[in-house]
Amino acid sequence: MEYNDRINAIKGIGEKTEKAFHRLGIETVQDLLEHYPRGYEVFEHPRVIAGLEEGVTASIEASITMTPKVKRVRNLQIINTQVKDASGSMHLTWFNMPFLQKSLRMGYRYIFRGKVIRKNGVLVMEQPGIYQKETYYKLLKVLQPIYPLTEGITNKLISKAMKEIHKNLEFAKDYIPKAVIKENALMDRTKALKEIHFPKDKETMARARHRLVFDEFFLYSLALRRLRDNKVINKSDFNLREREECEQLIEGLPFPLTKAQIRVWVEIKKDLAGEYVMNRLIQGDVGSGKTILAILTLLMAVKNGYQASLMVPTEVLAKQHEKSLRSMLEQFGVSICLLVGSMTAKEKREAYDRIKNHKADIIVGTHALIQEKVEYDNLALVITDEQHRFGVKQREALMSKGSKPHVLVMSATPIPRTLAIILYGDLDISIVDELPAKRLPIKNTVVDTNYRTSAYRFIDKQVAEGRQAYVICPMVEESEAIEAENVIEYTERLKEVLAAHVSVEYLHGKMKPKEKNEVMERFAKGDIHVLVSTTVVEVGVNVPNATVMMVENAERFGLAQLHQLRGRVGRGEHQSYCIFVCGSNSREARERLEILNKSNDGFFIAGEDLKLRGPGDMFGIRQSGAMEFKMGDVFNDAKVLKQASDAVKNLKNMEVNAIFEANPQLEDKILNRNTGTL
Ligand code: ADP
Ligand code: MG
Repeated sequence: MEYNDRINAIKGIGEKTEKAFHRLGIETVQDLLEHYPRGYEVFEHPRVIAGLEEGVTASIEASITMTPKVKRVRNLQIINTQVKDASGSMHLTWFNMPFLQKSLRMGYRYIFRGKVIRKNGVLVMEQPGIYQKETYYKLLKVLQPIYPLTEGITNKLISKAMKEIHKNLEFAKDYIPKAVIKENALMDRTKALKEIHFPKDKETMARARHRLVFDEFFLYSLALRRLRDNKVINKSDFNLREREECEQLIEGLPFPLTKAQIRVWVEIKKDLAGEYVMNRLIQGDVGSGKTILAILTLLMAVKNGYQASLMVPTEVLAKQHEKSLRSMLEQFGVSICLLVGSMTAKEKREAYDRIKNHKADIIVGTHALIQEKVEYDNLALVITDEQHRFGVKQREALMSKGSKPHVLVMSATPIPRTLAIILYGDLDISIVDELPAKRLPIKNTVVDTNYRTSAYRFIDKQVAEGRQAYVICPMVEESEAIEAENVIEYTERLKEVLAAHVSVEYLHGKMKPKEKNEVMERFAKGDIHVLVSTTVVEVGVNVPNATVMMVENAERFGLAQLHQLRGRVGRGEHQSYCIFVCGSNSREARERLEILNKSNDGFFIAGEDLKLRGPGDMFGIRQSGAMEFKMGDVFNDAKVLKQASDAVKNLKNMEVNAIFEANPQLEDKILNRNTGTL
């Protein structure tokens, strides 16, 4: 078996399974080998039913007291049965496993292992694994890997495939020079790959993980170094002069710039006027006012006679930026062009023409901006907003549209400066570390579902005062398998319980881009009072009149994500409120949410989140969206990141070249990963 073999070379993987694996981004043997467990489960001794509490994953040894029945609900087949031990009884439920009916016999005794949840007031075990006693006791205390899954791929299937790979693949490919391995006392890579999938014990697993995390960070740093080396020292062809229009724009704003904004603006102007190409990251918490800095920079480029582009991760955000650009810059005779995926072919063609003929000065859009067909006249500046949503490669692709354009990237990811320097290796960093002065701090509250009625009255009141609200639900539509609020039903319910004149609409990722834009525009205009949405509103949306953010099932989100969501309110002069509704009784969930209650500072939250997870907890809830590596966590593994980055720094040019020559696809592979976006 070879590294680059398609996974159907593995025994037991047929065409259908292969397709399912593709959904996980797994195509080759190597991909599968690098599909790491997201955690491990340790089988403990069975517990007694009466001692179980909601939220735990546990095993029970119990006998079946009710003939299992299959029930059909929509496209789901649900099996229900009841079991008992000496302490009490409980229900078990399985989804879409009708075949179990035959093997679950009345009166027989098994060990069941699964998550205990509360359904209609009583404790139920969902999707439990079923074991014969002897088998279970053999597994006791062994680390069982838990893999990220998708429909058609079970944990068992992956474990089996891993066994096949380990049986047939002789060596794991090792990119790291021997000296580096020795210096950092790294485990052999072949061994590490074995131990991560079939760990002998916790200590060995931790060492294996260290090795694999090191590799990830090493390769990432290597690719960054490559990018940097290739850029040579970029003398700029675009020395931009200061323009009075920028000062006029600042004077015309309804607010004074903060000190931090002014400082960063000075840094940007200096870059643009300097001898070298600008490569700058603006880091600033949500609501710190990064957009106006982008707009000023765009204006300066355009008024020097050049084109400039602004790339954002979502269409909703692109539209929003287009609107603010128009309202602020058209007075200076700047023409703005939108380019997004949902435009018709004809609209796109027209846009391409306007861009090529320089009838458009500023081009704002999504990934559509980096498509081959887009040709610019004289692009001198590219800006990306919410940079953490893009891969390094996408940033590069946009740059390659111009000839050495100035680059500005903006991000709200709260990473400490020392880490940012490593992760954004090729960029200078500016920090907007101050919120606009007039802003009232957001008032937070963490509540349980009993509080809803009061929350609804509160929303009514805010709407009556002319304000607007967001309600976030984790799901789009109802699901039998996951008990969490969904946007569609919640909207219906809200329409009933809120005052009659309050208009409620929903927004979610499965809607067509056009519909999404329409809803967002109507919300921005104030025609919609309450927007029920999934986390699609999370990035960058700016409706300063919205003052309430209510998050249902807040326990299901990462803290960083909740902080981003909260950033959608508190953007204007009015007092804003954030209501985190915790749908779980678990104390841990509650404690985690209390962190948000304590502070509105993104850096503080990232730090506390880290403490709560603890350095030993390697597979905790991740910073969603931001800088995800397959296995490494830039916060928790900061030390390894530093080690790997130093190791790369110390390599001689010759050694770097040797690694890339020996592995021709390496560079693309690292920078194009679906994960590991920066
Ligand atoms: P972010 O940094 O999250 O991208 P935005 O640039 O969208 O934040 O700014 C958030 C809100 O704050 C916007 O409504 C913007 O007009 C406003 N704003 C920006 N700078 C200031 C300032 N200096 N004083 C008051 N409000 C400001
Ligand atoms: Mg923003």
